[in-house]
Amino acid sequence: MAKTFQLAGVLLACALSTGAHVRGQERTAAPADSPAADPAIQTLLTSIEQALRAGDGTAYLALHTTSANRERVRAFMGSELMPGVTRSAIRERDREPLLGTLPGNGYRLMVDVFVELGARARASTWRLDIKRIADPGAAREWAIAEEEELSSVENLYRLSVNPAKQYTARNLKISAEDIDLTLVEGSVFVADIDHGTTALVLVGNGLLNFHPAPETEKGQVKIFCGAEALDTRFEAAYLRVNPGDVQSLVAPSQLTAAPVDPRELRRAQEIFREESQLSFQIDLGDLSRESWTLLPGSGDFVAEIRTRRYATLTYAKAGSEAEDISFFDRKRHKNISLYASKTRLALRGRFYNEDELVDYDIQHYDIDVAVSPDRLWIEGRAQLRLKVRAYLLGTLTLKLADSLGVRSIVSHEYGRLFGLRVKNQNTLVVNLPTVVARDTQLTLIVTYGGRLQPQTPDRETLALEQGRQQPDDTPLQLTPEASFLYSSRSFWYPQATVSDYATARIQITVPSAIECVASGQLEPGYPGLLAGKDPSQNRKVYVFSASQPIRYLAFVLSRFTRAESATIAYGPDTRELKGDGVALNGISFRSLNLSVEANPRQVQRGRELAERAVKIATFYESIVGDSPYPSFTVALVENDLPGGHSPGYFAALNQPLPTSNLVWRNDPASFPGYGDFFLAHELAHQWWGQAVGWRNYHEQWLSEGFAQYFAALYAQHQRGDDLFASVLRQLRRWGMAESEQGPVYLGYRLGHIRGESKVFRALVYNKGAAVLHMLRRLVGDDDFFRGIRRFYRTERFKKAGTEDLRAAMEAESGRSLERFFNQWIYGSTLPRLKLGSRVEGREIVLTVEQLGEVFDVPVAITVHYADRKPVAVVIPATEQHTEKRVPLAGAFRGIEFNKDDGTLAEIVKN
Ligand SMILES: [Zn+2]
Repeated sequence: MAKTFQLAGVLLACALSTGAHVRGQERTAAPADSPAADPAIQTLLTSIEQALRAGDGTAYLALHTTSANRERVRAFMGSELMPGVTRSAIRERDREPLLGTLPGNGYRLMVDVFVELGARARASTWRLDIKRIADPGAAREWAIAEEEELSSVENLYRLSVNPAKQYTARNLKISAEDIDLTLVEGSVFVADIDHGTTALVLVGNGLLNFHPAPETEKGQVKIFCGAEALDTRFEAAYLRVNPGDVQSLVAPSQLTAAPVDPRELRRAQEIFREESQLSFQIDLGDLSRESWTLLPGSGDFVAEIRTRRYATLTYAKAGSEAEDISFFDRKRHKNISLYASKTRLALRGRFYNEDELVDYDIQHYDIDVAVSPDRLWIEGRAQLRLKVRAYLLGTLTLKLADSLGVRSIVSHEYGRLFGLRVKNQNTLVVNLPTVVARDTQLTLIVTYGGRLQPQTPDRETLALEQGRQQPDDTPLQLTPEASFLYSSRSFWYPQATVSDYATARIQITVPSAIECVASGQLEPGYPGLLAGKDPSQNRKVYVFSASQPIRYLAFVLSRFTRAESATIAYGPDTRELKGDGVALNGISFRSLNLSVEANPRQVQRGRELAERAVKIATFYESIVGDSPYPSFTVALVENDLPGGHSPGYFAALNQPLPTSNLVWRNDPASFPGYGDFFLAHELAHQWWGQAVGWRNYHEQWLSEGFAQYFAALYAQHQRGDDLFASVLRQLRRWGMAESEQGPVYLGYRLGHIRGESKVFRALVYNKGAAVLHMLRRLVGDDDFFRGIRRFYRTERFKKAGTEDLRAAMEAESGRSLERFFNQWIYGSTLPRLKLGSRVEGREIVLTVEQLGEVFDVPVAITVHYADRKPVAVVIPATEQHTEKRVPLAGAFRGIEFNKDDGTLAEIVKN
């Protein structure tokens, strides 16, 4: 039984794809593994195509063998042949010998069929069993023995502005949640399908008012336009809606039919052509080159609003997204607002795990890619083993870079599958022939290939404050060794729509002059050499296996030399948690194979670095009580931008050229006084960010804040308290300076609207780390470090949230930390404190008064004496007034707020 294709709103994720992806111009025309062309079989397919086009049942029936079951064929024709077809296409995808026939006399074909009926179309996949009926050279050599429709995509539409309809509108108000569009004066055009209007074009004088309800979003809108609600004029808008919803959006009484003005119609058509491409468009590949669209789901809505001041702004309501309301700056590719609607919030509460919206769980990847870095070309074959999580699943949505063409999708269970590319969204939708139930195991094999740019530096790369210095002080200009990084933002292999822990085996074939480092442990015996026709075509094959789950797969190519390798043996883990201990989730390794691969000029640096990396890893293991992956490789790549990237099992670290004359400073994540900070930060990501993931973009501070704080802890461990204090000072300075840009919980959106990545690092990295330090001061070292271990143990190879950290810390400290996290992570304000002191008898009474809202905040105070050394005191302030009595130790001179202790608070002078 064929199943109708349903697209669960994947077409709407316009706002989330912030990266501009150019459609692959170099897409290969014919699938690489399509069956060899056979003119006689092609003749049969052409005859089928013609019968479909003519809706001619007699002609179709005549294409069958004499023994074909006529009743079955008639039933099949009932659903596949229809009147009014304007175009048809049939493409063979797969061919195998037909059981029960002599070699060469029968085949089982998989074909994709496309039938267009004016502005409507359907696509389907058929199984077609054919048999040879005549000698070669006869008019028809092949006939159909049996056929079956395996799946279909119904209700494809080719939309256009209705040239016969124009409406005049005055003060036409169109509202969706938190947005009002008022067409003060102008015209409205529509695009209709058989059961109603699905798109509108507004032209004229309009007013846009966007007023998000959540406080945080008001703050973001204010960063965008200077006010908490955006009010601006628009001159045109394109709206896309489910026909069932159009009446509730636009009351027909508000529209007055008017004679069509050809000039205005042309304008509306132009707007429609440009804007309609941006959402709900699918790519049918060689079945049809035209623009086809699916209907928005009920309740889904997109408005592309052409404003005078801000160019095109996009409002979208997308039921498939965890945060279903978005407001997007189309031209600059920035999310201005992104949040859950009132209904969504009421249903699921404040927090969410992005995994809840994923229909399946990928458990293992087996990937085989050949990469030609000179052409930036990838040919791949990915086998995905997955388990269905949805109650019922009919389609699978995968991510794969737009520029990579899909050659075939095959499942062990169902054979060849039909796939659709959603335009401009790096999305591949796979249609299953039948609805499958929860817990079903599926294996998919996707063959793909095309041109793919390596990943550009991400936010982990610092922003340079200063440009290149005078060029004349360097006589020799070297070119950095080229390197190619393909990781989480490249979509270089078909993957889940969100990061998803899985084990993997990755085989990578590269030109023999290039080396490779990837997620996983290099298998013994690799790399192996594949001899080509001549030495220039020699290839090297690498096989990496990730036996521990990783969030995403990555590799980096460059000219590498092994600089150093070492094995760290960890002692037994004897640390205990309070009460019922938590068992470690998964296998624990008590050793780590650490190696450093470096560009030739960086080998010496690599040797020195290996020794430090060993010390850092040993220190981290001693805090956490585990090392999640059995191997770790540092890849030193030449790049003048300080920065790095840390997938599971390896880190690519940028190294400046020996002749580099670039200077960087004044970045939240640059610690010029401490050269190992970067390495320590990147290495910490193996524990934080990789082994313990984050459940959605809001929780990224659990990766960056922890990596930053662990690097600070290592700085203290290695170089002492003064260095630690200077690091904390920097965390505090940046955390305080940028706090008003939004809560840590906004993740990548901090600084995003204005493109200020420093704001992101100041808050997600530095404030995040400072919050951990304040938490430690508040609950005490013992509870804090046990809490860290508990958190790690419970969340290893899972995607964690702030609430999980809170639960672990509460379990160890026995106190509520609700307010602490509310204010420091979910809120953006800072405490305002007034400090006081008085002497009473043999005691000093220290007072902390919270002038604004009351925080849980540790306050570090230095008590100064005239006749002896100052004494540091920590007051955990959790009330409006807090007093602490300390014995007087000498001649009291006064107190001072201790900035070196990383407390983010404004101190108000008396
Ligand atoms: Zn980082």
